[in-house]
Amino acid sequence: MKTYAFGVDIGGTTIKMGLFRTSGDLLETWEIPTRTEAEGAHILEDIAQAVEDKLTEKGISRLDVEGIGMGVPGPIGPDGTVFRCVNLGWGVFNVEQSLGQLTGLKVRAGNDANVAALGEMWQGGGKGYRDLVMITLGTGVGGGVILGGKILAGANGAAGEIGHIPMRDDDPEPCGCGKRGCLEQYASANGIVRITRRHLAAHPEEETVLRTAEPLTSKAIFDAAKAGDATAVAMVEEVGYLLGKAMATIACVLNPEVFVIGGGMSKAGEILLDAIRKNYVRFAFHASRETQFRLAELGNSAGIYGGVRMVLE
Ligand code: ZN
Repeated sequence: MKTYAFGVDIGGTTIKMGLFRTSGDLLETWEIPTRTEAEGAHILEDIAQAVEDKLTEKGISRLDVEGIGMGVPGPIGPDGTVFRCVNLGWGVFNVEQSLGQLTGLKVRAGNDANVAALGEMWQGGGKGYRDLVMITLGTGVGGGVILGGKILAGANGAAGEIGHIPMRDDDPEPCGCGKRGCLEQYASANGIVRITRRHLAAHPEEETVLRTAEPLTSKAIFDAAKAGDATAVAMVEEVGYLLGKAMATIACVLNPEVFVIGGGMSKAGEILLDAIRKNYVRFAFHASRETQFRLAELGNSAGIYGGVRMVLE
């Protein structure tokens, strides 16, 4: 095993870079802008240049680098072929081969949510487990599945798209994916605000601090629930019901050892975990009832950790 490896997490506006020791220590992180012009043609060149600059700065020989592992925001096959990353302007090509040619290093790439799940398994909230499902509760709901220590990508790279599990038969508004009634329409940071607004409009008689919360955010709703506001408690219960039921469904198929919950909304902490756990146990198949729940620990560095873990396989 060589001494160093790079982790890369490509986002729509910035690319997060990390220099690691292959033992798992993160030595340094930095960011470069994502140049999406010219159908994203400069993105890999910029990453290659950033790696080159860091090697020069640190006096590290290329021969001492295991490789580069990367999360990309879109579907990607097991051989490194990306199938259109709309955010980046990318079409269909092999990102591992292309960056490998630019750098002369081994490159491994996966979908960013799956790669983040792998990072949490390696050095975060899922450490010590081999079968885990990560759920990221941000503006939407993302997910990643790790089975036997490896990413489960699925036939079209769409495994782990937990946010689009159908939960309601219909909804007045469409989800970002075009369907109606998806989990993330209710159980994300945006989703809980949305169902709260709807609830307040339907129940004008209800007295709650949420009526004057400006702006109404998911944090404001969780804070009010912690302070005992009945409406806020009911909204958190609703989100816990939907997530608990969805996770009990996932467990019927995958039977993971642990669910790792991350994303901005997970900062609500135990009140959220309790609401999920209570409903999970209610709906789970008996043999899956002992599944553990953990909070993610790596924040937005999970992707660069997971990238490095991929390169070490
Ligand atoms: Zn959807």
